[in-house]
Amino acid sequence: MKRLLLIMNPNAGQKNGKRYLADILEIFRRADYMPTAFMTVGTGDAFTLAKEHAADAQLVVCVGGDGTFNEVTAGVVESGVDVPIGYIPCGSTNDFATSLKLSKNILQAARDIVDGTPKTYDIGQFGKRYFSYVASFGAFTRASYATPQNLKNALGHLAYILEGIKDLPNIRPIHMRIETADRVFEDDYIFGAICNSTSLGGVLTLSPDAVNMNDGLFELLLIKYPYTAAELNDCIRCLQEKKYDSPTITLHSTDRLTIHCSTAVDWTLDGEYECGHALVEAVNRHNAFRLITNQ
Ligand SMILES: [Mg+2]
Repeated sequence: MKRLLLIMNPNAGQKNGKRYLADILEIFRRADYMPTAFMTVGTGDAFTLAKEHAADAQLVVCVGGDGTFNEVTAGVVESGVDVPIGYIPCGSTNDFATSLKLSKNILQAARDIVDGTPKTYDIGQFGKRYFSYVASFGAFTRASYATPQNLKNALGHLAYILEGIKDLPNIRPIHMRIETADRVFEDDYIFGAICNSTSLGGVLTLSPDAVNMNDGLFELLLIKYPYTAAELNDCIRCLQEKKYDSPTITLHSTDRLTIHCSTAVDWTLDGEYECGHALVEAVNRHNAFRLITNQ
């Protein structure tokens, strides 16, 4: 029998993973897998389990949301073991799964892993941590990203707030100097994201032709702090029209970034909080892991 390492976050989303655990195990049993199954008991647990046990498995399956998937892929990458990963998405946000067109039906997702084939994907290294689809900072990063619906609406929400308040009393500019492989950006920003996904909360939607999740490149999105009414109007219009190349909004592809800030800035990695940094190095690790898809 083939050895399966299954890591489930039992509290993800509506707890459907837990509800269907027996059915999931039966699907893998029929495909001749012998499971070792772990329920995570806290933040960081999925990472540790994946890192420590990946070497004993021929397949690692993650059952949870984007945060659990982030930890499992990071753990497998850190283990240095080239074992394929299967993802059964059942969290409250499943942005990465949406980008990958994975089934949201738990049992179908399990069957797709059994029948699918592994493809290689990039991962973002952010200091000592990793992100699968987005690292972001700025307006609402800390408060809004704690709630999934606000993550979904982050940029739309931003446009709405900017429209409403005009004088920006609650949003502080963040001065940054960002060095990419071929360009340097320096300005005051309200929001920025390093993406490796066609969908950021379904709001920042980039063309699949423009984004390749395995091309060794990130898409860097920067929104300047609008100091004038003209800049504010330009910013709102571009966010609403999803036009990401303007005097206030920058979209640029790069394989690495060094970000210098005048003060420590909080980030989120795949929706999970990352405490403040004044200096950040992000590198796209090309072909970092193999994920099973049914396409
Ligand atoms: Mg890419």
